[in-house]
Amino acid sequence: MKNVKKIVAFVIAAALVATGYASLDDVAGMLGEPEAKIADTTAEGEMKVTFLDVGQGDCTLIQAGGQNMVMDVGNNDQGERVVSYLKEQGIGKLDYLLLSHPDADHIGGGDNVLENFEVQTVIMPEVANDTMTYQEVMEEISRYDVDVKYPEVGDIFTLGDAEFTVLCPEPELVSQDDMNNSSVGIKLVHGENSFVMCGDAEAKSEQEMVKRFGSSLECDVLKCGHHGSNTATSDEFLAAVNPTWAVISCGKENRYGHPHSEVLDKLENDDVQIYRTDLRGTITAVSDGSQISWKCEK
Ligand SMILES: [Zn+2]
Repeated sequence: MKNVKKIVAFVIAAALVATGYASLDDVAGMLGEPEAKIADTTAEGEMKVTFLDVGQGDCTLIQAGGQNMVMDVGNNDQGERVVSYLKEQGIGKLDYLLLSHPDADHIGGGDNVLENFEVQTVIMPEVANDTMTYQEVMEEISRYDVDVKYPEVGDIFTLGDAEFTVLCPEPELVSQDDMNNSSVGIKLVHGENSFVMCGDAEAKSEQEMVKRFGSSLECDVLKCGHHGSNTATSDEFLAAVNPTWAVISCGKENRYGHPHSEVLDKLENDDVQIYRTDLRGTITAVSDGSQISWKCEK
């Protein structure tokens, strides 16, 4: 679809130049700035993306071509459950542990994972949190001498036959006073299928992503930012990602009222099919490179 739009714009622009209605400079403006590069793969095997039910928090396991990544690990009290789940899946090592931002509902179980699995690389934003939970995770990272990578927007990583591009945070958003907008977010691509997952990044960061990546943000599955809070999944961002499915990771009857009704309403208005961990338990999306199939615990 995107390419069709570009071709139409190009044909119109060429016609305007030919008929003297526009100069070449005008045409460059019409076609817009080139969009930032996004990973693009031709997948061979399957990729499995599992959104674990960790109550009010986030934890996603991504398995592709024999490599594994965990993005966020839920709260402290979920650490052991996450470890057992990973062991049940036969996982021995993690190529990446991505900690979107150092809030407890995302890094709480990080120390348990680091104690139980060989972790190749930790990806996290360069921002510290003044909490015991954060300290515990950092201690395990240094105990096992794990490589820490503070990613830059636009960085591309390979995970088996999938790839992911870092979408956020822009450096000026990284701050101890705004952990949510310090979140590292990614677009994960496996063949024709793609997932956008941005931790608790809110509208401010979403706006920057739209500015930088434009319609390259388009994906099949959006994991709604900040547990379906109305501070994220802003209109402009939702229009750019234009997902078929949305996943919301939140706890049953959580005290924040997540997911907020405004977010659910706009997803429903756009005919986006919603999967919620508070209602369906652990949710798995399997990509074969062209189709995505879904499995839910409940
Ligand atoms: Zn959170």
